[in-house]
Amino acid sequence: MTNKYMYFIANWKMFGDLRTLNSLDKVIKFSKINKRKSKLIYCPPNTLIRPMSKRLQKTKIEVGAQNCHVSDSYGAFTGSVNSKMLKNVGAKYIILGHSENRQEGESDKLINLKIRSAIKSGLKIIFCIGETLKEKRNKRTNQVLSNQINKGLKSIRNKSDIIVAYEPFWSIGTGIIPKSKDLIKSVNFIKNKFGSKPPKILYGGSVNNQNISQLKNISGIDGFLIGGASQDPKKFIDIIKKTYN
Ligand code: PEP
Repeated sequence: MTNKYMYFIANWKMFGDLRTLNSLDKVIKFSKINKRKSKLIYCPPNTLIRPMSKRLQKTKIEVGAQNCHVSDSYGAFTGSVNSKMLKNVGAKYIILGHSENRQEGESDKLINLKIRSAIKSGLKIIFCIGETLKEKRNKRTNQVLSNQINKGLKSIRNKSDIIVAYEPFWSIGTGIIPKSKDLIKSVNFIKNKFGSKPPKILYGGSVNNQNISQLKNISGIDGFLIGGASQDPKKFIDIIKKTYN
């Protein structure tokens, strides 16, 4: 059983429309009676940031975005939205470096520039890192994580607005989670990499209301980034409750 302050971040990816917001009612109700030391954050698609923020206005649940353009000023970038615009419509957090974006070609350098621009806009960063299955099999996990941290956070002195989400590529959306001993090793490695002031470290990748009973026992973890299961309010609430049982 934990008594720690834990983050539960819902990544809705490219799912949801205005009607989907009704599913928040259950979570709002739960959050009002929830006495557990926890922070709930929803990261919906950009189209839902404003209406979701309004819906969550009188609650402690916060809203975040899932990615942004690298520039923090306006520009001729058709189809793009920058961090300032996301802040303006209600986002307080932003996921950057997600493996689904890395897979589409986002480099560590680009992620670094996006992080800097989002910090400038006043957003808190959920910085995703993680190795591929091939890298894991080649025993390169630590090397990959180290590289992603060095490059992604290059020249960022004040890291107080950064939360790290360790999300192995091979675990996202697959139903497979790391063995506890491997997860402990990676979380400790990340923590040690930051020296005396480590950030909050979350785990993400196929978290559900079954495997949470195992994941909650990994002591170095400060919360979870939850994709698929976060779209079902019952499962999301169940994950939160079970984390503290
Ligand atoms: C994610 O997209 O960040 C994620 C962890 O997804 P899932 O929980 O569906 O694996």
